[in-house]
Amino acid sequence: MTATAAFVVEAVPRPTLPVDGERGVFPVRRVYCVGRNYAAHAREMGHDPDREPPFFFQKNPDSLAHDGTFPYPPMSRDVHHEIELVVALKGGGGDIPVEEALDRVYGYAVGLDMTRRDLQGEAKKLGRPWDTGKAFERSAPCSPLVPASRIGHPDKGRVWLEVNGEPRQEGDLAQLIWTVPEVIAYLSTLFTLAPGDLVMTGTPAGVGAVKRGDVLKGGVEGVGVIEVRVV
Ligand code: MN
Repeated sequence: MTATAAFVVEAVPRPTLPVDGERGVFPVRRVYCVGRNYAAHAREMGHDPDREPPFFFQKNPDSLAHDGTFPYPPMSRDVHHEIELVVALKGGGGDIPVEEALDRVYGYAVGLDMTRRDLQGEAKKLGRPWDTGKAFERSAPCSPLVPASRIGHPDKGRVWLEVNGEPRQEGDLAQLIWTVPEVIAYLSTLFTLAPGDLVMTGTPAGVGAVKRGDVLKGGVEGVGVIEVRVV
């Protein structure tokens, strides 16, 4: 008898994210995303931000990409950028109190929740899941993580995105409807969180379509910058 059973098919390696200034990498377990977490973006998508509790969807861990390119995905003619603060967990659990939520945070990154808006729109209309609109291949370009031990826990700061040097998205972490600790606490009532989980915290107003050749450059003040070319 062996201690570890052999895999019966190829075991695909676990996705990881680089960490700024560290040789070690962050092992990714799950990627949670918050929908409509900035009032101005909720309004631009046709919703009333005052009457909605937070809601969540997931991307696949292997949707993450950090090589500076975003391959335009198949089956869509309307792919949108969504610049977001990404939270990386070093601890987890269920029913985490808001006051303890930040103790679970390892660090932060800047991510793009790339979205096949046409497929998402069709899914919404038909009451179907969002996966085809949100969780496709390489749909989550992400900057290297920065440990909270270095930058603290940002709760204000500019969130922005330019396409080919033209301003597109603009907001501030202070405008989050549900703050980072509140999102972690709320998520932990629905799922058991664990080290390696990422949370994409939602996007400010100004989302829009991209095309091949576009250069997306965005950032979160105090966290970092991401630059991605659509190929
Ligand atoms: Mn998003």
